[in-house]
Amino acid sequence: MYNIDTMSKGTFNGGVFLSERKEYTVDKKTKAIPAPREIILPLSQHIGSPNEPLVKPGDNVKLGQRIGESKSPVSAPVHSPVSGRVKSIQDFSNPIYRKTPAVVIENDGNDESVELVKRENPEELSKQELIRIIRDAGVVGLGGATFPTHIKLNVPGKIDTLIINGAECEPYLTCDHRLMIEKTNEILNGIYLLARILEVSNIFLAIEDNKLSAIFAMEKAIRERIKKFSRSKGHMPVQIVVLKAKYPQGGENQLIKAILKKEVLPGKFPTDMGIVVQNVGTCFAIYQAAYEGKPLIERCVTFTGGCLKEPGNFIVRFGTLLKDAIEFCGGFRERPAKIIIGGPMMGIAQYSLDIPTVKGVTGVIFLSKRELKFFEESTCIRCARCVDVCPVNLVPTEIMRMVKYSRWHYLDKLHPGDCIECGACAYACASKVPLVQYIKLAKLKEAKKK
Ligand code: SF4
Ligand code: SF4
Repeated sequence: MYNIDTMSKGTFNGGVFLSERKEYTVDKKTKAIPAPREIILPLSQHIGSPNEPLVKPGDNVKLGQRIGESKSPVSAPVHSPVSGRVKSIQDFSNPIYRKTPAVVIENDGNDESVELVKRENPEELSKQELIRIIRDAGVVGLGGATFPTHIKLNVPGKIDTLIINGAECEPYLTCDHRLMIEKTNEILNGIYLLARILEVSNIFLAIEDNKLSAIFAMEKAIRERIKKFSRSKGHMPVQIVVLKAKYPQGGENQLIKAILKKEVLPGKFPTDMGIVVQNVGTCFAIYQAAYEGKPLIERCVTFTGGCLKEPGNFIVRFGTLLKDAIEFCGGFRERPAKIIIGGPMMGIAQYSLDIPTVKGVTGVIFLSKRELKFFEESTCIRCARCVDVCPVNLVPTEIMRMVKYSRWHYLDKLHPGDCIECGACAYACASKVPLVQYIKLAKLKEAKKK
């Protein structure tokens, strides 16, 4: 049993301590939002090549039917989350990737599904078969990155270490926390399938110290599993690593630093060092694909913020418009002053409720005026707070100065390309300089030079 107060906790250099604001939703059981009458499903919901439609207006589709895919390897197919009729295919706003083609489906309410191939022992399948199942199910990184998972599992060279990311360091978001409590064994099954595919010798499950209930649930399940099965069946110990709740602890490179004390050098990937990082939500999706034969058609999303009557965690089918989902949450207590998809630090502000949920949506935050703070930018006082908190050792104030005074030729010495856009520097800035905006500009300039 853990004594959280006295144990030493891993962390990385820099970072900021944020007000968590997770109390709105963390103790509420996850509910499913019923599928709306009309689904607007973006054809591409991943990082990589865009998908082409496999259906046309007038076609009937079944729940789980593949309706978009690409021949390019760096892609993930999309599947219909309902049964019904395709009304149209048209460009539609996407909360993450601007406007993209989307399939509009009239839901017949029957949930008539394609045949789902259930498997009792998928761990007995070959590595390549498992990777194919994960690819065909359209699984992508569900921590928000949406990189196709099968690509990360098919890397050349030996992978020695698997890190499962249960940090969930952004304020307000609790979907991963709830998943670890409610789908503990399913996540564990997904972790063991990953271990089987990658043939790793170390598995770490990283959870921040503000998620005690998730730590205890996962720890109990791991102990029971080890008691029940022999190591030869692939059930090696999963080591839980309790991390300091600090932002941006959930970044891949920050996790690696905190757990293994290793730096991922600029231009390199964790896989170059024999490490794969996967989110707990992705492990659950892998479980569903391999055991239940279910493609990725829905996910757990945190709907939260002071404006909602009933904030909570909800299973939402992809293509559900925010306005339909809000109705299920009892509507608004007051009109939101700001809507953010994702966490408040790295999320994307939205201008409408006519936005469909997609694979990369971890949460939607509806903030009231009282929850927002507005600041005037003032002159940099050279306090170096931004330098102290930067988790990748950049000098944000210098990058800002070079951009402000158009000294573009100095930028390459300041490496703005290494910035992970976490926003810790802007948050800590004494003069409230919008540093991330300046750094994004610097990145664009640098990219154009290449
Ligand atoms: S410079 Fe980039 S990586 Fe460093 S704190 Fe600022 S946003 Fe984060
Ligand atoms: S934190 Fe803000 S005020 Fe301080 S050095 Fe950085 S940019 Fe300047």
